[in-house]
Amino acid sequence: MATANACMYCAKDQRLTDVMTEICELEASILYLFKEQTYPGRCVVAYKNAHKEEIFELSDAERELFTKDVARVAKAVKTAFNAGKINYGAYGDKMPHIHFHIVPKYEDKPKWGSTFDMQPDEKVYLTEEGYAEIANKIKANL
Ligand SMILES: [Zn+2]
Repeated sequence: MATANACMYCAKDQRLTDVMTEICELEASILYLFKEQTYPGRCVVAYKNAHKEEIFELSDAERELFTKDVARVAKAVKTAFNAGKINYGAYGDKMPHIHFHIVPKYEDKPKWGSTFDMQPDEKVYLTEEGYAEIANKIKANL
């Protein structure tokens, strides 16, 4: 079991900022834009109130708030980028702090009809302006 300071979501250190950038805080989570943008609009919703590793560790009220955040983000991303489908990824074997990958999928684009690649071989990185533009589009639809 990870201790709090071993966890990048709790420490919010460079391990986190290397791979994602904060968009905003939500009721029970922090919304991050994933820097690798093979799937335009891909982001992460991370539980913010404590280091929790499984959704069954949350009370019903905590889980309801967190799930509301996930749904709200999924709707915003789908709307902002006209995605065909949102994929929800919650894995975290090595980084178990509760977080969901919100991954918009597009017909005729990578991995449609299959599981998204956590780290695609050919990575897509944007400029700071590019990230800001996507973050603003998501925020405008929250
Ligand atoms: Zn944590």
